[in-house]
Amino acid sequence: MLYEISEKAIQLQNQGKTIIKFNLGDPDLPTPPEIIEAAYDAMKQGKTKYSSAAGEQKLREELANIHGVSVENVVVTTGCKWAIFSLMFLLLKKGDNVVASSPHWTSYELEAKKVGAEFRTLKSELESDWKIDVEKLDDLIDEKTRLIVLNSPNNPTSKVIDDKTFGEIVQIAKSRGVTVLSDEIYSDISFVKAKSILDFGEGNILVSGFSKSFLMTGWRIGYAIVEKELAKMMIKLNQITTTCVPAFIQYGALKGLESRKRIADDIRRTFKIRADAAYSVLSKSKMQFSRPDAPFYLFPKVDGLDSEQFALDLLDNGVAVAPGTSFGDYREHFRIALTVGEDKIKEGLEKLCEALP
Ligand code: PMP
Repeated sequence: MLYEISEKAIQLQNQGKTIIKFNLGDPDLPTPPEIIEAAYDAMKQGKTKYSSAAGEQKLREELANIHGVSVENVVVTTGCKWAIFSLMFLLLKKGDNVVASSPHWTSYELEAKKVGAEFRTLKSELESDWKIDVEKLDDLIDEKTRLIVLNSPNNPTSKVIDDKTFGEIVQIAKSRGVTVLSDEIYSDISFVKAKSILDFGEGNILVSGFSKSFLMTGWRIGYAIVEKELAKMMIKLNQITTTCVPAFIQYGALKGLESRKRIADDIRRTFKIRADAAYSVLSKSKMQFSRPDAPFYLFPKVDGLDSEQFALDLLDNGVAVAPGTSFGDYREHFRIALTVGEDKIKEGLEKLCEALP
C-alpha cells in the first residue's frame, strides 16, 4: 500500500495537481554541497571505474574508526537496504524465521519473505509508549529463529529503544543463539542518545547508511559492520551482484564523514522546528501521538480509522501519507514524514485534520 500511495501521488502530480507529500522518508533538504563537490572531484580524478566490492579502503577505514572495529568488519553496500537484503539472503534459508518488534519498516518483512523465511512480529503500542515487551519477544523465538531485527530510532514511530530494554534483548538473543541485526540508520540524527548494538560486544550486526544522516537517499550507499567471515560472504555477494558502490560516491560519503557532526546538527535543528510545527497543529486535533525521539516521522492514531481508505481519500485533498498497515497491524495509525518545509507541514496537516472522519 505504501508503494501504491506513492505511485498515485506521482500520477496526480503529473496531472498538474499539487500534493503535499508526507508519505516517503526522503528528506527534501539537498545533499550538503561539500559532498557533491568531493564526488565530482573524484570523478574528475578518474574514480569512475569498477572498484573494490568491499568498498574503498579509505571509507572502510573511516567507518571502522568511527565504530571502533577493524576494516575487515566493514562492508560498503548499495544502500542500507542492500546490506539488509544481502544479510537475509546469506543467513536465512526456507523455513527459518526472523523476529522483529512492530511497527517495523516494510522492507524487513518483504525481504525476509523473499528469501523464504517467516517474519514474526511482536506488536508494541502507542499507549505504552512503544515499549518492547522483552518476555513476549523471547516467546516468539524458537529453534528456527536466526535473526532479531531492531531499529532504533524506529521507522515509523521515531522512538529510541531504552538502554535497559536494548541490553535485555541482546542478552536474550545471546542465550538463545540468535543474532541481532540492528538497523541504526537514524542514529546519528537522533534527538536523544541512541545505544548501538556495538555497545553490547561482538557477534551481532549493525547496518546503517548515508541516506538519512547525510541527505544522500538517491546516491545509494550504506554499510554493514559484521564478523569477518560474514563480511567475506557479503563481499562475494557484492562481486556477483552490484559489483561495487561507484567509487566517486564513496568519496562523497567520505567527505560527509569529515563534517558528520555539523551535518547531523543541521538536520536535527531543521527537523526539531518541523516537529514543533506539526505538534502545534496535531495537538488541536483528535489524534493521539507520542513525541518523537528522532527526526522525520510521526505515527499518530485515530480510534476507529481505516488508514488505507483514509490515505487514498486524502490524496484527493492534496496530501499523501503512508497507512499504518504498511508497518504491521496498525490500521488506526498512519505515518507522517516531515520531509517538507514548515509552511507546507502546517498547510498539509490542517488539510489532513479537516479530512479526518
Ligand atoms: N532502514 C530504515 C529503517 C529505513 O527507514 C530506510 C529508508 N526508508 C532504510 C533502511 C533504507 O536506507 P538506504 O536508503 O540506505 O537503503
